[in-house]
Amino acid sequence: METLQSYVRGEWVTGTGDATKLVNPTTEEVVAQVAAGGIDMGRALKHAREVGGPALRAMTFRERGAMLMTLSESLLAIRDELLDLSMINNGSTRSDAKFDVDGASFTLAAYAELGESLGDGRYLVDGEPIELLRSRKLGGLHIKTPYHGVAMHINAFNFPAWGLAEKAAVAWLAGMPVVSKPATATSWIAEVLARALVKAGALPDGAFTFIAGHPVGMVESLQTGDVLAFTGSSGVGNHLRTHPRVIGQGVPVNVEADSVNSAVLGPDVSAGDDVFDMLVRDAVREVIQKTGQKCTATRRIFVPTEVADDFTEALASDLSRISVGDPFTEGVRMGPVVNARQRDDIMAGLGRFSSVTSTVRGAGRPDTVAGVAGDGGFFVDSHVLRTSDPAASLAADLVHDEEVFGPVTTILPYDGSVSQAAQLVARGRGSLVASVYSDDRDFSRDLVLDLAPWSGRVTLGSAKVAESAPSPGAVLPQLVHGGPGRAGGGEELGGERGMDFYLQRTAVQGYRPLVERLFDGS
Ligand code: NAP
Repeated sequence: METLQSYVRGEWVTGTGDATKLVNPTTEEVVAQVAAGGIDMGRALKHAREVGGPALRAMTFRERGAMLMTLSESLLAIRDELLDLSMINNGSTRSDAKFDVDGASFTLAAYAELGESLGDGRYLVDGEPIELLRSRKLGGLHIKTPYHGVAMHINAFNFPAWGLAEKAAVAWLAGMPVVSKPATATSWIAEVLARALVKAGALPDGAFTFIAGHPVGMVESLQTGDVLAFTGSSGVGNHLRTHPRVIGQGVPVNVEADSVNSAVLGPDVSAGDDVFDMLVRDAVREVIQKTGQKCTATRRIFVPTEVADDFTEALASDLSRISVGDPFTEGVRMGPVVNARQRDDIMAGLGRFSSVTSTVRGAGRPDTVAGVAGDGGFFVDSHVLRTSDPAASLAADLVHDEEVFGPVTTILPYDGSVSQAAQLVARGRGSLVASVYSDDRDFSRDLVLDLAPWSGRVTLGSAKVAESAPSPGAVLPQLVHGGPGRAGGGEELGGERGMDFYLQRTAVQGYRPLVERLFDGS
């Protein structure tokens, strides 16, 4: 059994105290253990601030970009090991494992390219110089410089590779040292990835601290100048953003929390149209990918009443052909959920939903689990639920409010109008992604404008991209990821935009030619 280590002040160390066991969710076998006692978080953060921060800030964007490219390549070099680990520790199919692991190297590479394009500066100039008080002499501009503290990253269990890399890439390019804590359940994958990053030799001393397990005093060691980026449940997110230390020290917090995402089929689409088939295909993917343990998974599907039966039948039929089982078994397209707690939470959520929905397919554990004898492993079948009519869709509070974090989606018939679709989507109180499937341009534009205030991202499914667009759950580094309201109100990625969280924007004013000459971004 593996004993996981943390990387603190340039050394790999084993934590002391009671160890938490990590399991293979297919076999329930204990595969690793981790303890985080004895790690002095105050000293770890001090080292990162005093050694890592200055070293990163001395590098130009181009140099930081080159560093990120080396890190990306270091992950490609151990790709197969990471994919295997993801199948063992996360219950991912190989395809799901690629989604996480390749997402990590891809995002590092995307920010490497951004670093190259930002050139030889060490800070950013925001916008054009501005004339002040109608005087030719007086001017001002805005500059963005990295905070002098640490970027603490706390990640969720479902993306141990991508989650670590997508946050770290942005912070490092901005010029901040990273302290990264993965969720304990899947920290073996994160630990192996962290070792590769360290071994690559490109990170300056103090630029990276990796904490396996749950140490005492981590958040309590934050101070003014640090930032905290969290991904996980809204409960823990709210605990962290209201933590007395965070408030007392004025630490900025970015929260990426749970989200009841939606897809809306336009009234122009009939059963069998390309766009109809596209939504069916995307919905299947969003249910089964990572066994539904994806913050961006489509939880609510709004379809016009006229096509609700056709859509329900098509989705249920396609899902019934998906083989569930051991990710190492040929043909399996959906693995187990990550642990017993996750499975039990899903079953409890389904129980609550049964008061407002009918079950179209799924009854807990699948009848057949490929490659698994007996009733071992944390397997949950794909579940399709449905409300009866638009009135029931509007009345089903629970469906709009609760994220069942597994292979579960609910079909909600609506009347086909922009206003009702917008009203229903808004009941989710803010989400990471909403999708509109239609070839009616007026419908799409009007609905997007109504959904945008409630959504971090909106995808447009149409006949032109029916064959080529990724499903809505895929997060691309060029576009922002995050969402308002219950989704946490955070914003990550989006190319250069993601760096803003790590940079202080400062207005500089004075003799205009001097201001412009001194701060031209070089
Ligand atoms: P979680 O239970 O909230 O845990 C998230 C992280 O917080 C873990 O690293 C956990 O560490 C840590 N944590 C828990 N309590 C803490 C505390 N008191 N102080 C400091 N850290 C603490 O979430 P999860 O079960 O891992 O992930 C599932 C949830 O994440 C879902 O709701 C999903 O929607 C959400 N999610 C959101 C996004 C997004 O981008 N918006 C992405 C992925 C997942 P331990 O594991 O050691 O307890």
